[in-house]
Amino acid sequence: MKVRVLASGSKGNCILVSGEQTSILIDAGLSMRKIKEILFEIDFPVEKIKAILISHEHSDHIKGAGAIARNFRIPLLVNEATYRVGLRRFGRIPELIHFENGQKFTFNDLLIDPFSVPHDSVDSSCFLISERGYPHKLGVITDLGYPTMLVKEMMKKPSTVILESNHDIDMLINGPYQWWLKQRVKGKNGHLSNIQAIELLEEVLHDGLKNIVLAHLSEVNNKPDLAFNSMQRFLKERQAMCNLFIAEQYKPTEWIEV
Ligand SMILES: [Zn+2]
Ligand SMILES: [Zn+2]
Repeated sequence: MKVRVLASGSKGNCILVSGEQTSILIDAGLSMRKIKEILFEIDFPVEKIKAILISHEHSDHIKGAGAIARNFRIPLLVNEATYRVGLRRFGRIPELIHFENGQKFTFNDLLIDPFSVPHDSVDSSCFLISERGYPHKLGVITDLGYPTMLVKEMMKKPSTVILESNHDIDMLINGPYQWWLKQRVKGKNGHLSNIQAIELLEEVLHDGLKNIVLAHLSEVNNKPDLAFNSMQRFLKERQAMCNLFIAEQYKPTEWIEV
């Protein structure tokens, strides 16, 4: 199984996961036209995509989901509460598959383990995903205010993790956002900062972790170099044999072998 982050950040998120038999999108927070364009650019046939897995209802995660589901005639995998609050934006969906956080399920040969995280949404899901017959797991852990015990447990399992590193705390505090928004971003239902991402890894770094993709970086309150360098410094200190990537808003990552 391999993964490629097509876009990441507050202007839209979309991840392409491609297994031997089944490929899916995780979130579709850009317009269908834009997502089709990116797939064309990276030379990935749209008809290979068999479903869209939805993390939560914020528009940077679901903007194009309904249109893609209808256009590609593929199911939406979404928990019930998220579907309900996203209903108007999703529109008519040809096929719905509901999952519940905490209950593993399979979609074709993909094993999906959705779990709850604290965020200002109705029932956010993060995911561990693996492919039948293979031990390696992908973790998708973005859009959370802080790492709960459950998140720490889940973080010990993946070989590749897409991990939120949303803001630099000083840039956020001294930046242009209004106070209510600053508070929202750094609050318990907001987003993980660069330092929170490092502190989380301090606790859960394991030999099996081969790839870290820093994701959902704020364009206003973060700089890719800042997030990358501070994480790289930490990994060096721990002598971790781990590749580090940055997921960008306007440029897909390379393929990463999970
Ligand atoms: Zn988001
Ligand atoms: Zn969100």
